[in-house]
This record gives sequence, C-alpha cells and structure tokens, in this order.
Amino acid sequence: MYHGGIELGGTKIICGYGDEERLLIDKTSIPTGKPEETLNEVRTYFNRNKVSSLGIASFGPIDLNRKSETYGYITTTPKPYWENTDVLSYFRDLMIPLGFDTDVNGACLGEVEYGAGRGLSNVIYGTIGTGIGFGIYLNGRLLHGLSHPETGHMLLQKHESDKDFHGPCPYHDNCLETLASGPSIEKRYGTKAEELYDNETVWDLESYYLAQAMVNCIVMYSPEKIILGGGVMHNRKVLELTRTKTKEMLNGYIRKDEILNHIDDYIVLPELKDDAGIIGAIELGKMEEENRCIG
Ligand code: ADP
Ligand code: ZN
Repeated sequence: MYHGGIELGGTKIICGYGDEERLLIDKTSIPTGKPEETLNEVRTYFNRNKVSSLGIASFGPIDLNRKSETYGYITTTPKPYWENTDVLSYFRDLMIPLGFDTDVNGACLGEVEYGAGRGLSNVIYGTIGTGIGFGIYLNGRLLHGLSHPETGHMLLQKHESDKDFHGPCPYHDNCLETLASGPSIEKRYGTKAEELYDNETVWDLESYYLAQAMVNCIVMYSPEKIILGGGVMHNRKVLELTRTKTKEMLNGYIRKDEILNHIDDYIVLPELKDDAGIIGAIELGKMEEENRCIG
C-alpha cells in the first residue's frame, strides 16, 4: 500500500507518495492559489492515487493541538485567503490516518529518518528560502509547544553596514527572516538572490546573520547536527562562510570535537536535497498510521 504526503508551501504544494521500498514513487507540484481550489486539486491527486495514510507538512502558523477546535488549521498567516483554513477537513473523508505538522518539522523528520540526520536523536533542520523556519527534533521527538517554534523570527544583532535596512517581516525589524530570507536579500539589493551569486558582500552579510542563528540554536538546543536547506542555500559560498562564522562567534565556548574540528559534518546540506519536505510529509502520515506519534 502507498503512503501519501503533502508539502504545503506558500508558493507551491507538492503531493507525492511512496511505499516501503521506494520513498518517493511520484510527486507533482501545484501552485498555491486560493485554498478551496488548490486543496480540491490536491484532493483529486489522492482520488487518482490511493494511499493508506496521508501526512501534511504545512506552512504556518498552524494549530497542532489535537484537543483544540481548530486542530489542523492554518491560523493567522498573512498569506492572502489562507487565514483560518481548515486544511485537514479536505482529507477527512478519505477515512485514513492523517498526520499534520509544520513544513520544517516535516523536512526535519525526513532527514532524521532517511537523510543527514539518520541515527541521531537531536537534529535541527532549517530552511532558508522565501521564509525561514527551523524544524526541531529533540530527544527523539518533534518539538511543539504553546504553538510551535517560530525560529525564523528570532531576533538578531544587525550588522553595522545594514542599520538602515528594513526587511520584509511586518512584525520585526531585526528578525532572522527579515534579515536573511531570499526576499530580504532581494529587497536589500534590488536583485534576486540567485543573481547575486558571486557578490562577496552579499554572502558575507548573509552568513553573518545565519551564523548568529546557528549560535542561538546550538546554545539553546545542543543539536547533534544542523541541516540547512531552502533556495538560498543553493548559493555555493554561503554554507562555508556560515560554518566559519559560527565557529568564530562561538569563540571556543562549546568544546566539542564536532564543532571545533568537524564543523563541515556538523552544519550540512540536506541529503534528500529538495525532497526532504515531501519525504518527511509522507513519513508524518506513516507515523500516524503506525501510532508512532512523535510530535
Ligand atoms: P520556498 O521557500 O518558497 O519553498 P525556496 O526554498 O526555493 O522556496 O526559496 C526561494 C528563495 O530562494 C527565493 O527568494 C530565491 O531568490 C532564493 N534562491 C533560489 N535559488 C538561489 C540561489 N542559487 N542562490 C541564492 N538564493 C536562491
Ligand atoms: Zn519577524
């Protein structure tokens, strides 16, 4: 029997399914339009492709509290039309186990089960793309809480050269997402991030912010590995610079071999590449089916 997954993103939705042997047999991408038409299109995909479980890894904020009346909703998103969308309601009549978590927790789970985080109990997966968010897997469980972590909005110290910049986050002037997301880079320089690939100033500043976020994650959660994905990480300089600056900013305080001598194996790219999210979403559904709820 096949297991299905949905990676629900702000710009596109990926639907796919796999089985015990093949993690991803098919995937298809649908542009994120208005909720009703888009989710009905997703639903049609699963009418054609029958699955025994379905996992949904969604952009947020979402309600993950199973006791809440709005469990399974996208709640207060600024994305037009999507506020208060009951995502799970589109799939309940399939009468199969439905897993539900954040997009980044989904991708984190994918990497923990099948990718760079295999065998570890404490892993952080960050996506640096249109938005920024980190999935957090601690002591063998995906971290939820009052709602769920919103690490993209951790506050950072602005660089001296960047004091007059005001990024795209409507809530904060110095959060990680407003300073380091793809749209932030584009707003600062007036050019798409991918086109600035060999501009040293851009990647120096970008890694200054990403390294601050790495330091915050390391000192707060003590992860065994940090995996960084998303479009911005496709730049070939940013990972190396982020590793170097993370070490510099930690300044020798965490005396672990992994950080002092093997940071190249400590802050890494996703092994599942751009499929971490959909593979993790499929896994969320499988876990629900097998009652291995780790959220
Ligand atoms: P999303 O976050 O919407 O799911 P992505 O993870 O692909 O999508 O991130 C998209 C962002 O990544 C865009 O802001 C884009 O400018 C940026 N991006 C894409 N490719 C590159 C690249 N090679 N270098 C730097 N930034 C990139
Ligand atoms: Zn913010």
